Amino acid sequence: MAIEIPRELLPVDGRFGCGPSKVRPAQIEALASVGSSLLGTSHRQAPVKNLVGSVRERLAALFRLPAGYEILLGNGGSTAFWDAAAFGLIENRAQNLVFGEFGGKFAKAAAAPWLEAPDVRKAEPGRSTRAEVVDGVDVYAWPHNETSTGVAAAVRRVPSDGALTVIDATSAAGGIDFDVAEADVYYFAPQKNLGSDGGLWFAAASPAAIERIERIAASDRYIPEFLSLKNAVDNSRQNQTLNTPALTTLHLLDSQLEWILAAGGLEWAAARTTESSRLLYEWAEASEVATPFVPDAADRSPVVATIDFDDSVDAAAVAKVLRANGIVDTEPYRKLGRNQLRIATFVSIEPDDVRRLIRSIEYVLEHTAG
Ligand SMILES: *Cc1c(COP(=O)(O)O)cnc(C)c1O
Repeated sequence: MAIEIPRELLPVDGRFGCGPSKVRPAQIEALASVGSSLLGTSHRQAPVKNLVGSVRERLAALFRLPAGYEILLGNGGSTAFWDAAAFGLIENRAQNLVFGEFGGKFAKAAAAPWLEAPDVRKAEPGRSTRAEVVDGVDVYAWPHNETSTGVAAAVRRVPSDGALTVIDATSAAGGIDFDVAEADVYYFAPQKNLGSDGGLWFAAASPAAIERIERIAASDRYIPEFLSLKNAVDNSRQNQTLNTPALTTLHLLDSQLEWILAAGGLEWAAARTTESSRLLYEWAEASEVATPFVPDAADRSPVVATIDFDDSVDAAAVAKVLRANGIVDTEPYRKLGRNQLRIATFVSIEPDDVRRLIRSIEYVLEHTAG
């Protein structure tokens, strides 16, 4: 018979996926309240342009943007940003730190025929690696949080004159505190820690990054219009995108930013994700059958907790039982192929729900034969 987890152990909200991730009910209510005034209206008119303006202002406040930094946005999510960067941000050669799937995908995009082959620095799964100054590299790139493995890496400017430090913050943005002055481009899509939906990319860009974008755009390099960062700069300054953006994504993001800022901003958000993830890591360290997948505690992500199980436990079976009980998306990243649970501890997730999740996992382990 299937295992039924007692109701009192279950999280109030069972969504623990790493993206798309939990959208708070208050965001849905806020969205419903603009159902006829915003949704289904022109993105060239004031209601939508004001919404884009609000998102840009709130992101600037969240990241405490220094003078001269700008918030850019465009369509296509972080995956589109990688190609846009290959066309319009990398001048000649990138160095890509790869400690999981997503860092690897940018490295592939950076291997464009008009660029020199990227300097790819690969770490073993569960480990991180550092940038190293190399002559001729003009973009140093790594993820702030590698969502596929649960490895977080510090945002620290690479001390190389004229080079840009470019950070993939897709699952970190708004969940890990950092100093944006240490990056030239801090880009992300909002369907992870920022609890919105997919389809758009956003970036905080330094004056040096804007200068680079403008210089490459003025060169004779061919750049498709849709992937033109210069186009994104020009449109973003007018609170617009080249083509139609997803209005629901913008609205869900705006209400999430409002919520985080009112609660205390990045510092508050980081304390909350740290509390949630610590519960899981401490539980795993104390457990006889579980261990944190990331061996070095300093590399462990506060927003994506990956927990390995020993051979006595079939993690996929545990995830399946959890799913049958309404606790969804705790499966590990597909291609990592480990006996593991991967649990988002994004800012939207209540630390008390993480406590309940742990009790639910314990219940499943106790009631599974073997
Ligand atoms: C999810 C994710 C991406 C891909 O985002 P899309 O919006 O689906 O393109 C890129 N980088 C990281 C770190 C991610 O977690």
